[in-house]
Amino acid sequence: GERGVYNFAAGPATLPLSVLQKAQAELVDYRGSGMSIMEMSHRGKEFDAAIKKAEADLRALLAVPDTHEVLFLQGGATTQFAAAPLNLCASSSDPADFVVSGSWSDKAFKEAKKYSAASVAWSGKAAKYTSLPADFGAIAQNPDARFLHICSNETIHGVEFKDYPEPKNKSGVLVADMSSNFCSKPVDVSRFGLIYAGAQKNVGPSGVTIAIVRKDLVGSAQPITPVMLDYKTHADNASLYNTPPCFAIYICGLVFEDLLAQGGLAEVEKKNQHKAGILYDTIDASGGYFICPVDKPVRSLMNVPFTLAKGADLEKQFIAEAAKEGMLQLKGHRSVGGVRASIYNAMPLSGVEKLVAFMKDFQARNP
Ligand code: PMP
Repeated sequence: GERGVYNFAAGPATLPLSVLQKAQAELVDYRGSGMSIMEMSHRGKEFDAAIKKAEADLRALLAVPDTHEVLFLQGGATTQFAAAPLNLCASSSDPADFVVSGSWSDKAFKEAKKYSAASVAWSGKAAKYTSLPADFGAIAQNPDARFLHICSNETIHGVEFKDYPEPKNKSGVLVADMSSNFCSKPVDVSRFGLIYAGAQKNVGPSGVTIAIVRKDLVGSAQPITPVMLDYKTHADNASLYNTPPCFAIYICGLVFEDLLAQGGLAEVEKKNQHKAGILYDTIDASGGYFICPVDKPVRSLMNVPFTLAKGADLEKQFIAEAAKEGMLQLKGHRSVGGVRASIYNAMPLSGVEKLVAFMKDFQARNP
């Protein structure tokens, strides 16, 4: 790539070169202020303009309706595993449903059990998290659940929702952990009570977590809710209740500008479909040499896990040789092994093209 390597890491992940260059140019002297944006008051006019523009651009990108707040939070998506039930359930005996489609939704479910009567409405565990409910009717929803939680893209297992279930409880809401496919395609935000996402895959550095929450759901958190986990705290203070992760928010703002300049999320989705398409095609055309275990209709456009039929030793060799050729971080998550290519928005097409050429060559050399 332009930087000599392609970074296939799952997160923190590659960022657009143009964003890094803009940040570099502004780093020491932010727009004539004589200071870096990370040295400024979060209540000063420069940062105020930066966070307002980041929010406005994100609203434009995702067409976030006025019914929803956009919040810039800390603590990672992991903190939202607790914040969701704390804000959406009146007490720890209030029911909540979870679709457990991989490691991340399983973690969300386990954390939510502390603050709600969480239950598993569907699990992909028996099929090693390679599928989603083929028919959303197969999700055994509790009619009283306050929310139905999904992980829209399982970063480790590579399973992605292409459409979304409706909560059975008419006064319940759909909640999605979108950490690893946030802003990778258009989403009808109005279908969700709460969307949350750590920034460090598709939209920025680690340190900031974005929550998009329906306004009528804000303000009824459980009494035990820490002030920092109560969405009302942040909604009432425009994400400036305490010191926010200023630099991370600023970088997200640059990424949002870049995504808008690309033509918005419909254009971005087309690019992502094309990139993922050539990678899955290469796997599927390898005659069983490379194997992606995920059901075809729910294969992730962002994280592509695969194995080599010839075993773990050859996988090791594959990953090492790829690294020598400048394709980095292709090792699968330590919990599942194998290979994983994370190809978020900022992975150029040329990176995926280089990877598939390498795969074909590797297969020819190691039949
Ligand atoms: N959910 C998903 C889908 C993720 O991929 C991750 C991080 N890999 C998390 C949650 C946890 O995010 P964080 O590290 O920001 O807490």
